[in-house]
Amino acid sequence: MTLRPHIGYRLGQLCVEEVPLDRIASEYGTPTYVYSRAALSEGFQAYADACRGHDALICYAVKANSNLAVLQLLAHQGAGFDIVSGGELERVVAAGGDPAKTIFSGVGKSESEMRLALTRGIGCFNVESLSELRRLDAVARDLGQIAPVSLRINPDVDPMTHPYISTGLKETKFGIPFDQALPAFREAVRYPHLRILGIDCHIGSQLLNDAPLIEALDLLTGLVDQLQSEQIAIEHLDLGGGLGIAYREEQTVPIGGFVGQVLERVGRWRAEKYGGQPIRVLFEPGRSVVGNAGLLLTRVEYLKPGTPKNYAIVDAAMNDLLRPALYDAWHDVVPFREASAGALPWEIVGPICESGDWLARARELALSEGDLIAFLSAGAYAMSMASNYNSRPRAAEIIIDGASMHRIRERESIESLYSSESLLPLSR
Ligand SMILES: *Cc1c(COP(=O)(O)O)cnc(C)c1O
Repeated sequence: MTLRPHIGYRLGQLCVEEVPLDRIASEYGTPTYVYSRAALSEGFQAYADACRGHDALICYAVKANSNLAVLQLLAHQGAGFDIVSGGELERVVAAGGDPAKTIFSGVGKSESEMRLALTRGIGCFNVESLSELRRLDAVARDLGQIAPVSLRINPDVDPMTHPYISTGLKETKFGIPFDQALPAFREAVRYPHLRILGIDCHIGSQLLNDAPLIEALDLLTGLVDQLQSEQIAIEHLDLGGGLGIAYREEQTVPIGGFVGQVLERVGRWRAEKYGGQPIRVLFEPGRSVVGNAGLLLTRVEYLKPGTPKNYAIVDAAMNDLLRPALYDAWHDVVPFREASAGALPWEIVGPICESGDWLARARELALSEGDLIAFLSAGAYAMSMASNYNSRPRAAEIIIDGASMHRIRERESIESLYSSESLLPLSR
């Protein structure tokens, strides 16, 4: 039975590609993140195929899953990258990604991050405020460079998703308000060390409906027309990321259909108003590339059946998978051995000293102590959000490729958790 692409039961055992997960547990321990190479590649390829023959660039959003091997795999398939920090940029470079195909998003770029990005030859800065324009111009002048710039516009459309991952409403901290976009561009073109390249938006994440994205697209193309009438030429239009994945049984927007629709709409607009002169289109997908390509493997440590609730305490916790605690999010939980009798509703929780440390609620499962279970859809915003809370070493990451296992991140050692700390020189 298939649960996710390249993840499912073979001979009654849960496998990623051809590898049963008890092999991962005995070789690398638990908790461990396990990804399918084929699923990662296909996640990106869905975008790449839909863009073939168009002037388009897919900039994978690094924050969804920033492991070097994941970035390397996507770079190998031609991906550009969307980064939100200097740290992510250095990861892209270390993984062999091309800085010229990388765009730098985020509301709080520091001077040193701007300097680093300019030095590395970043493709574009997605600028989110007038103050940032001013700072970027000054940093570029210092380096004797011209910084490539896009303005992130907040189109004030409701993406209809969780408030914490809603970014395109005017009350959020993101982007330049739609009604201030034109004055912002007029100001931007006056800076001698900036070159206006594009316009962008990113309205939210885990979107299950493409109508708000299309609405945002139309608002941006309208702005491009107004800018054109003022002799401000825009070379690329970046629609951000945000397509959702099925964590449960949600109906999702098909990637190919959505990208095709965007490119077709853009094509029609260019034909009508620009004599067919193309404009480059960028996408910044994160979750929809990697989200369903991974799972978190964990072992049941203790069972505390009772009233009113049955608790299953596992060796993964909110520091490994924050989404349930942070967003009240659902992850499917599946046992290593396909369905057995005696299911009870279990609260699946971690060892962390917080009542918020829960991973799943009221799941009908037949569990015994020592069993392996997996949290599905943990390819995105799982390891990348992991912390060391309660001095827990972060888990290992493994990529399965057919029948082979590649460890792409070692489990952290306990010693490494405090190796950069110092003791005081106490004399009494
Ligand atoms: C997080 C983020 C993305 C990726 O969002 P997904 O929902 O994972 O596709 C893209 N662009 C920006 C600016 C982001 O902050």
